[in-house]
Amino acid sequence: SPGAFINVGSSIVFSILLCGLVRISILSSQFNYRRLEEEDQTEENSINDSDEDEESRTNLIQPAINTQMLIDAITMQSFDLLKKSCLLLIAVDLSTIIVDTIKYIFQSYANTQTSIQVRLALFKAIIHQDISFFDENSTGQLMSRMDSDTNSISHSIPICLETLTMNIIHFVGILPIIVSYSWQLSLTAFITFPISFIVSQLYGKYSVDLYDEESDMNADTTDIVQNVLSAIRTVRSFATEKIEFQRYTKHINEWFKFDMKSSVLHSIFSLLWRLMYNMESVLVYLYGGYLTINGRMDSKNLLVYVAYHSKLTQSLDTFTEIYSEVLQIIGSSRKVIYLLNRKPILDYENGSETPEVLGTIVFDGVEFAYPTRKNVEVLKSLNLTIEKGKTVALVGPSGNGKTTIVSLIEQFYAPKSGQILLDGTNIQNIQHEYYHSKVALVAQEPTLFSGSIRDNILYGYENGSEEEMLKVAKMANVHEFVEKLEKGYDTKCGEKGIQMSGGQKQRIAIARALIRNPAILILDEATSALDSESESLVQDALNCCAKNRTVIIIAHRLSTVKNADKIAVIEKGQVTEIGTHFDLMKNINGMYYKLVSKQLEPKKEEQKND
Ligand code: ADP
Ligand code: MG
Repeated sequence: SPGAFINVGSSIVFSILLCGLVRISILSSQFNYRRLEEEDQTEENSINDSDEDEESRTNLIQPAINTQMLIDAITMQSFDLLKKSCLLLIAVDLSTIIVDTIKYIFQSYANTQTSIQVRLALFKAIIHQDISFFDENSTGQLMSRMDSDTNSISHSIPICLETLTMNIIHFVGILPIIVSYSWQLSLTAFITFPISFIVSQLYGKYSVDLYDEESDMNADTTDIVQNVLSAIRTVRSFATEKIEFQRYTKHINEWFKFDMKSSVLHSIFSLLWRLMYNMESVLVYLYGGYLTINGRMDSKNLLVYVAYHSKLTQSLDTFTEIYSEVLQIIGSSRKVIYLLNRKPILDYENGSETPEVLGTIVFDGVEFAYPTRKNVEVLKSLNLTIEKGKTVALVGPSGNGKTTIVSLIEQFYAPKSGQILLDGTNIQNIQHEYYHSKVALVAQEPTLFSGSIRDNILYGYENGSEEEMLKVAKMANVHEFVEKLEKGYDTKCGEKGIQMSGGQKQRIAIARALIRNPAILILDEATSALDSESESLVQDALNCCAKNRTVIIIAHRLSTVKNADKIAVIEKGQVTEIGTHFDLMKNINGMYYKLVSKQLEPKKEEQKND
């Protein structure tokens, strides 16, 4: 949000101003002292005429005013001046310490705030993306963007900004001084400047890509960890721990090599840049010396010029560091910026209508291919009407598009052509939260969150009452097993519901879908993975909640499908047969007949065996 960025910005600006203020005040006290001293010396002039010029010039080279005071105190044998020098030492150090402390706090604030704001913006941008985006981008990679990339950005930006500003102040302060001392000598900078510009351009060209690639490598290594951890059971049962460790080691080593490569590049760049400064200093010596020897420049002026010039070089040197830091920021923020700016193809926030929902769904000539496999047509001009209040079963061989139909109803993807209507309104035009309060899904592999059973049932419906929760829990046959649990509804489900059995997970998922009392309930193979006892429990739950709503059920088992008001056979992305169980059983050459008789066969054999 802009407000937060203003906060971050203002705290950086504040810490810069603070430092600037102190430096300026120290400088001005130095300047004042010098003026006083010069006045003193003009008074003394009558006595000692010849030394005046030299002293005031060499004074300018002295770095610290209190040291200078000390020297003066000793030479003048003045205790008064010595006291002043000590007081000044305390004042200068104390103010520097205090300012540094305040600056540190503000800098940390700016760092953390930058990190927080980038993370918030990035998280928002990522969860806003369409589902096809997640088909292509792995969790581990996105996590790495959220974590290391945001870290390196948020860490560097405030420091870079501060150092940059301080050095610009320094630079702008010193430049006119050295020009005023000798404009001829200042011209030497214009000889080396273009060369250093070209060198840094070259470096920039290579290093941004390098840093970008490095952050990709980092993302890949995070991805390996994420993959292994999320499938740790599979890893254990296939005994692939060693293989996975080797894989990880290999990636880490590659990343290390890469890191070394960019470090070497950085060092070479730094080296060239320093050579450049050295060349410039040599030029200053040569040309300055030449001018002085020829009597065109004052020897004291040359000394002062050289001193200021070396200060300028110092501040330019930090520019180099910042420059490469900035390149690193650009490199690792490329993907972050890409993510921040990426507009989802299917934006769930586009819909605004909130029509009355009765529950009729119409697929009108829907064609669809997954964005990751654009050439494979999964649905081919699919026409299907699911009437309100009816239970419709989708059956058919695996991989023929049943789950895809569900994904389109859920608006995970948009049809390539054709449209899906809910009571006559194109579902893309319906407001997101409103639509999903009317359409609920129990997915093929339901994922629970790591909270308690209660948290999971009330997911997205946090204001639901205990009564409402209990009602759906009883409908979905959740209550039956929760009662036996020691902690009841407060029992934790574990990551992705790992601490629950398959049947329990399914039933919790059904309760979660039911609590919002949806007009349309979709069950994708909700009972296929269950044993017959769990299945009959889930089946009961389904029969109970099918009343007064449209139910779309995908199932293999005849017992689940048989009583549906309508059965649609989905083959190669099209509806090839549609009707009641008895209608479809009449067509002995049809797919439905084939599917049903396959299921009945083993039973016949069993009967024979009996
Ligand atoms: P089912 O009828 O078994 O539910 P699906 O609708 O899941 O079949 O799958 C239909 C086809 O789409 C399959 O060939 C499958 O490989 C493919 N498919 C499913 N999900 C994706 C995806 N996210 N990206 C690309 N192809 C997919
Ligand atoms: Mg499926």
